[in-house]
This record gives sequence, structure tokens and C-alpha cells, in this order.
Amino acid sequence: MLCQHSSSIILTNLAAPIMPITIPFVHRENPQAQAGWLDALRSAMPDYKLCDLADLSVNERASIDVAIVADPDPSDLATLPNLKWVHSLWAGVERMVAERPDNDLAIVRLIDPRMAESMSEAVLAWTLYLHRDMPHYRQQQDRKLWESHQLPLPSERTIGILGLGALGQRCAIRLKDNGFNTVGWNRTGRMLEGIETFSGPDGLTEMLAHTNVLVVLLPLTVETRGLLDTHRLSQLPAGASLINFARGPIIDDKALLTHLDTGHLAHAVLDVFDQEPLPTDNPFWTHPSVTVLPHISGPTNRTTASAIVATNIEAYVTNGTIPPSVDRKTGY
Ligand code: NAP
Repeated sequence: MLCQHSSSIILTNLAAPIMPITIPFVHRENPQAQAGWLDALRSAMPDYKLCDLADLSVNERASIDVAIVADPDPSDLATLPNLKWVHSLWAGVERMVAERPDNDLAIVRLIDPRMAESMSEAVLAWTLYLHRDMPHYRQQQDRKLWESHQLPLPSERTIGILGLGALGQRCAIRLKDNGFNTVGWNRTGRMLEGIETFSGPDGLTEMLAHTNVLVVLLPLTVETRGLLDTHRLSQLPAGASLINFARGPIIDDKALLTHLDTGHLAHAVLDVFDQEPLPTDNPFWTHPSVTVLPHISGPTNRTTASAIVATNIEAYVTNGTIPPSVDRKTGY
């Protein structure tokens, strides 16, 4: 069939419709979140058949080599025998890496500048909260106490960021742009322009010694689990504070509570915990020097995340490229 399109003539073959490629969504989301994600993914990928895993027959599952995942149940993934790689909708894939330790499945995590923007907004907001002594003024209000305290310049506060990856880098730049003396710690020693960077155990000791607010943005790996134990926390100067926006098990909770109780640490802003939701009898809920947040510091935006997933899957379908995936040796 010939059809006229602007000034060109295009030859189309209506006799052979192309079957859309099926991409399953494998997740442990609630029905509302599932529907929201399917809507967003379908809008971003109109040429594909996006469906829930449950809607695929055994035969259909055998033809699947890529899936979109959100904290998938490993037993669900096991029903896809020819799966080569998965694209996560989350930036943190620690649970999946632990549940699928085999090397034969490539796990691609979400790297979304929009999320880095949102995370850096949260890090800046809570750093300002600590910088402006807000926990202290809140406690004074409870006692109806009218008393002002000296306010240091932002440049007199050192913010130490553990982890200078997709999220940590953006946070470091944003804090620096707001006048804070910002330093960071990473594994490889890769430098970040304008930010003093430390690495290795000695580098961590050096950085902690002059950090007033410690921001945790590390992945949870064999090396980072329990990293902030009593020894490391005691290396922070008296009166330092801590923000954990990464993963709960990076910090030894008992050690943290002890350092808060003794007053060595002034305050902790915690968004992530060993167990989530945080059990109601956990002492963090009622501790006067702790702010509890329900894992909201770096939310995934469905629209921008779906657009990134769409671009990556399109590249794979077009030329077989799989985006960089989690390194199973380092765990991130
Ligand atoms: P990323 O891009 O993989 O960056 C990880 C950073 O940590 C890198 O700078 C890396 O060093 C450093 N690192 C890893 N292992 C280390 C070690 N043993 N010693 C020192 N540094 C180490 O990760 P991201 O995208 O920034 O995300 C970080 C974490 O944030 C995620 O894994 C997730 O757990 C968490 N997260 C939380 C939320 C939330 O809402 N609370 C949202 C999204 C993500 P190199 O640069 O040298 O490789």
C-alpha cells in the first residue's frame, strides 16, 4: 500500500503487523502502586506490551529475556528461565542482589537525575535543620525557654558524605553551593571536582575527625554493613550529628543509641532502618535526639523513571546493549 506523508511517499505493508514485544513487570508492590507503575510504563513504552507477570502463560514466560522489576520475589523471577537482565525501578537493589547472588542475571538499577535532585533537596533540608539547631529550639519550646545560641557560618560546618555516587555527588555539590564545607568518602578514591575526597579506612578516620554532620549515602554491601560501629561513631567530634538516607544496617543501632544517650552525638535523622516499617516499640520513635522518617528521602518519580527504563530497553531491543549492571564482586 502507498500512502502520502508530507512530500514523501512511504511504502507500508499492512499484511504483516509487527507483534509488540512483551515486557513483564515483576514486583512486590500493592495493587494501587502496581496499577500506577503499569500506567506510567505503558505511557513511556507505547510500542511494547507491558503486563504483570501473573498475566503470562508458561510458554510466554519462556520467551522473556528482560523484565522490569521492583523488589521482585526471587521465586517469581525463577519462572522466567531465559531472563538475561532486569531493570529495577529502584536505585537501591541490595535486597535483590542478596536474593539473587548468581552471576548470570544482570541487575540494572535506576540512575535518575531527578531522584538525585530530590535526594539532594532532602539532604540540604535536613542539613539546614541541624545547622540551624532546630532540634534544640524544639526542645526549648517544650520547656517554654526563650534563649538564643550562636550560629556558625555554613563554611564553619563540615558536612562529610559517605558515598559519592549518583546520589552523593549531587548532594555534595548542592551542599557546597549552599556554603557548607563539604567533603566526601568513596571506595575507589575517584576525585570529585571541588570536593575534598577521602577513601580507605585511614581516609575515613581522617574525614570523621572533622565532620560536624555525617551524611550516609553508601550502598549496603559486605563492606559497608555495620561500618558505623561504636569505634567509627566515637571518631566523630563531640556534638556531631548524623543523617542516614542509605540503608539501616550500615549503622550499628545500639552503638548509635549509646552515643546519642551520652551526648557525644547531638542528633540523628534516620530515613532507613534494619526493619521497615520501623516497629512501634523501637526506641528511635521516642528518642528526643532522633528524627524518624518513613523512607522518603529519595522517592522514585514514576514518569522520569519510566522514561529512563524505556530508553534503556529500547537500546537493548535495537542493538543488544545492556546498561551497566551491579558488580557482583563489590556488591553495587
Ligand atoms: P552509587 O552510584 O552506586 O554510589 C555508591 C557510592 O558509595 C560510590 O561513591 C562508591 O564509591 C561508594 N562506596 C561503595 N562501597 C564503598 C566502600 N566499601 N567504601 C567506601 N565507599 C564505598 O549509589 P547511589 O545511586 O548514589 O545510591 C546510594 C544508596 O542510596 C543506594 O544503594 C540505596 O541504598 C540508597 N538510596 C536510598 C533512598 C532513600 O529514599 N532513602 C533512595 C535511593 C537510594 P566509588 O565512587 O569509589 O565507587
